Amino acid sequence: MNIPFVNIQRQTKAIRSEIDAVIKQVLDDAWYVDSPVIKDFEEDYKNWQGSNYTVACENGTDAIEIALEVLDVKTGDEVLVPAHTWISTASAVVRSGATPIFVPTCSQTYVMDVSKIAELITSKTKAIIPVHLSGCPVDMPSLMELAKKYDLKVIEDCAQSHGAEINGKKVGLFGDIATFSFYPSKNIGAFGHAGAMTMDDEELYEKAAWIVNHGQSVKNNHHLIGRNSKMDTLQAAILQVKLKHIDAWNAHRIKQAKLYSELLKDSNISLPLCPEGFKHVYHLYVTQVENREEVMKKLLDKGVVTQIHYPKMLSQMDVFDTESKKGDYTESHIYSSKIMSLPVDPFITDEEVHYVVDVVKEIVD
Ligand SMILES: *Cc1c(COP(=O)(O)O)cnc(C)c1O
Repeated sequence: MNIPFVNIQRQTKAIRSEIDAVIKQVLDDAWYVDSPVIKDFEEDYKNWQGSNYTVACENGTDAIEIALEVLDVKTGDEVLVPAHTWISTASAVVRSGATPIFVPTCSQTYVMDVSKIAELITSKTKAIIPVHLSGCPVDMPSLMELAKKYDLKVIEDCAQSHGAEINGKKVGLFGDIATFSFYPSKNIGAFGHAGAMTMDDEELYEKAAWIVNHGQSVKNNHHLIGRNSKMDTLQAAILQVKLKHIDAWNAHRIKQAKLYSELLKDSNISLPLCPEGFKHVYHLYVTQVENREEVMKKLLDKGVVTQIHYPKMLSQMDVFDTESKKGDYTESHIYSSKIMSLPVDPFITDEEVHYVVDVVKEIVD
């Protein structure tokens, strides 16, 4: 049996007629940018997320860069980011002129260890970017208490966590601005690049909307120096279709992640944990194994594709200065060499999960 890491073809096939209809409409209208479809998508996304505003943009990395600019983060500031995340979270901080400071991450949930934040706060600290990595929420209630105490801005990087919740409240609704990516393999994926920001504050919304659109509110009326980071009509139309399915797709991911955990519970492999009351949406199902490279190769020989998210922690990368690496990353670096993500997507079948489990057990037990 061949099991790709993510089967995007199968996802498209399931909604193909709906997708074909909206693509045809976009081609017939030929209104490829700045169209009402983008506004409609922003309206739908805001309603689904439960925020007051949504600003669609070109990708999830731009969303973080723009959110930092909206919150006035600049040279001389420090921004706390997790040591373990996709590079965008920290590269956006460097591009703003500020210095990212890496917060150690937890070996069971893989997200920022909130108890390690306070010791890294200095007079220069301006903001925190928690990342709900792999779909597991960061402990936002505790993080927001610290943010309030030290007067820090909070940007939630929700690129891997559309629909994740803490005690019934969606992630992205805790901080000042939330950023989303619609990279094709994300829980809601475009047919190319796309991203968004959500927020409740009108002024933040206005500034973000201006920045993505050349600093203008209406054509040729420029309020500030912006950039061009607009979502295009085709992606907005496709995302509107996919948004109708996201809750069912997340439910399927959760069901299959539970199946993995149930079947693998007595095996020689560490399983992902999610704190009580938190809703993990399993963008990734991250395990830990000894002799990882060998295990991955044996799995591949049996047709099972696995991946590493990510082979290096930011705290292990040379592109970041030593001043970013002020924490104690021992725990993060130990699990870094063991993490291995198993295939999970909105359509993976029970039979496929059973096959992956059988092969994993054969190799590690
Ligand atoms: C995917 C991702 C991003 C960046 O999104 P793009 O749309 O690819 O620019 C940012 N942060 C995290 C955690 C991601 O997984």
